[in-house]
Amino acid sequence: MKKSILPFFLVVACLVAAHGQAATYKVYAVKFAASSYPFTAADWAQGGSKTEPVKIDFMVWLIRGNGKNILVDAGFLGDIEDAKEFKVVDYVRPDSALFKLGLKPGDITDIIFSHPHWDHIDGVGLFPNAHIWIQKEDFNYFVSTAWQKGEHNGGYAKRDVRLMIDKNLDGKVTLVDGDDKEILPGIRVFTGSRHTYNSQYVLVNTGTNKVVIASDNIWIYYNFRHMLPAADGGTLDPAGYVQAMQRMKTMVSDVKYILPGHDAEVFSLFPKAGDGVVEIK
Ligand SMILES: [Zn+2]
Repeated sequence: MKKSILPFFLVVACLVAAHGQAATYKVYAVKFAASSYPFTAADWAQGGSKTEPVKIDFMVWLIRGNGKNILVDAGFLGDIEDAKEFKVVDYVRPDSALFKLGLKPGDITDIIFSHPHWDHIDGVGLFPNAHIWIQKEDFNYFVSTAWQKGEHNGGYAKRDVRLMIDKNLDGKVTLVDGDDKEILPGIRVFTGSRHTYNSQYVLVNTGTNKVVIASDNIWIYYNFRHMLPAADGGTLDPAGYVQAMQRMKTMVSDVKYILPGHDAEVFSLFPKAGDGVVEIK
């Protein structure tokens, strides 16, 4: 009995090892704009300092490997009204920012949306070949319930709703149903922060490390260092937001591999791979 089972386990072990080996990626943060507004920590973290200044950037993340060029979020176009209150400077269209890594818009195979706020989703039309991954509840709320009386559509742009509905009609959207799902080999998504109705963050295997692309599930490092939830309107569940940050800590070997959504400090913490581009390693 034992003798016959052993080879079976060896085969399974080899298959698992081969699978794990194949699915590793390089991860980059790519800046496409900055804010010149004089924000303090209190603007981003509940109970944060009202005097400590914070520098806010806008960025997308590129996950490259396994025959794929995957974006986490797609940034925004320069003409969107919502950007005005942020006093946006140093703007480069997100597809142009990706030229620095030798990528053309058509090279992007997938986009994982952390959530559908304008500064993350408005650039979806720039990448014609991309297949889209977004949480099912987040998508459904964004395109329908959010626009009913008494519901929350702050940070949502109507033109982005129309773009996403068209993408779905074209069969280019997969709705991810819930927490802890491996959507592509070596890439898992998680929920719980409720930055929007059901925002998600991404765990990527780089071979040597695991990286959490938190996007706005951690707005800035200050939230994470002080374990403070996002300020005003930044989460529908402040306790869940903090719990998710604690959970992220258990996913990585070093907390430096947890990336917030808008902190300019990211670009001085990792090795430069181009102007406004760092590799997370
Ligand atoms: Zn954002």
